[in-house]
Amino acid sequence: MESSCTVNTANTDHSFDILIVGAGLVGSTLACALGESGYRVGLLDRSPLNSNLKFENDFDSRVVALSAASKSLLQDLKIWQTIVQGRHCAYKSMRVWDADGTGAISFDSKELDFPELGFVIESRILLNALHKKIVEIDALKVLAHGEVVSIDPCEDNRQNLQRVTMKDGTMVTAKLIVAADGGASTVRNLGNFETREWNYNHKAIVTTVRMSEPHNACAFQRFSDSGPLAFLPLDSGEEMQGGYFCSVVWSVVPDYAEHLLSLPSDLFNKELGRQISHELGDVLWSDKLQSFPLRQMHARSYFCDGIVLVGDAAHTIHPLAGQGVNLGLLDVKALAEELNEARLKNRLPGDVIVLSRYQRARIGHNLGMMGVMEGFKKLFGNRSPWAVWLRNFGLSRVDRLNLFKKLLARGAMGLD
Ligand SMILES: Cc1cc2nc3c(=O)[nH]c(=O)nc-3n(C[C@H](O)[C@H](O)[C@H](O)COP(=O)(O)OP(=O)(O)OC[C@H]3O[C@@H](n4cnc5c(N)ncnc54)[C@H](O)[C@@H]3O)c2cc1C
Repeated sequence: MESSCTVNTANTDHSFDILIVGAGLVGSTLACALGESGYRVGLLDRSPLNSNLKFENDFDSRVVALSAASKSLLQDLKIWQTIVQGRHCAYKSMRVWDADGTGAISFDSKELDFPELGFVIESRILLNALHKKIVEIDALKVLAHGEVVSIDPCEDNRQNLQRVTMKDGTMVTAKLIVAADGGASTVRNLGNFETREWNYNHKAIVTTVRMSEPHNACAFQRFSDSGPLAFLPLDSGEEMQGGYFCSVVWSVVPDYAEHLLSLPSDLFNKELGRQISHELGDVLWSDKLQSFPLRQMHARSYFCDGIVLVGDAAHTIHPLAGQGVNLGLLDVKALAEELNEARLKNRLPGDVIVLSRYQRARIGHNLGMMGVMEGFKKLFGNRSPWAVWLRNFGLSRVDRLNLFKKLLARGAMGLD
């Protein structure tokens, strides 16, 4: 982005104060937060919005575990009300244990004085609620089928702008571009942001299962040196009364992933039941398996030259703690606050002061959470007897420290 050009904004298809690229969970939430702020806001995605979800009997294999902080933001934006009309499960307890020992830790919302520990929601239900809200905001311009291919700096009336060109040749200009286009962000790459990446050499296998015993709104996480395995409780809804469904995220080395993906479903179900120590009885049924490569990535800076990063475009994190979307929504809250304040102070949205404040608010917290995940991964990936003893001893000790458990839970719920 070296060359500068003069642009007559009348020659472009649209001009915005803020252009959000990516209408996924994070970009869509930001669009709702800024839609009525007084800025001219555009939301662009290569796919159309889906505000008309037909409620099916099946489950979305992608679910998110939303924290109390995420719920509070979605409540403020009046989106929560729509979400809770759909299927969702408030989970009240969580059990975490080490498959290679006796160490275990349990969290119970009642004991810790919280109404619940979080909410398990299918991604499509959350996205649908966000898109429903977006189409109601008249001031927000949605550009669907717009795939960003280049970004150049421009000047108009002595104002610095960014000109975005899409695959079909459409051009738009904006004072600030928000990259909310996910982990493989094109906008981040076009902006030449430096990143730090950790390849986990693990794949996540994701599916939905029906168990023979009820989950009682409890989430399960089992660690072993082959990788973490999580069972998140799902609301079976009216259509599937009597079924005990869970969403499974299983992180394993690629060879084992290939083996699991090649198994006939009855053998896969048996192996999965064994790996979760038959906590919920037998796995009676599993949906089609999906797999994703896992990597952790963090941008060294969150803004440069009229572009700012949010959500997975700024950081992708191992799914074991279910924090990806939660961190992204905390980015949204911080950025929306800074941009709204900038407007009151007559500052431009791309002002370095505004974006530095956003970066300061978020970069340390995101890095801290990624550091914790890295530590977990290393501790549980280590087979040495000392490491096994240490983690089992640690888990059992922490389990007896209610105050400390409360602090851990508050951190995971985004309350500190
Ligand atoms: C297996 C797995 C399990 C997970 N479980 C959890 C969990 O329990 N809890 C949790 O909080 N997180 C979880 N996550 C993480 C979570 O899914 C992500 O953090 C979240 O989806 C990121 O949202 P986003 O809006 O930043 O990006 P995305 O959801 O990737 O959205 C990006 C959007 O940008 C659009 N786009 C991309 N490129 C372009 C382009 N060039 N032009 C225009 N549009 C573009 C895409 O169409 C898409 O709509 C999990 C992740 C994985 C892999």
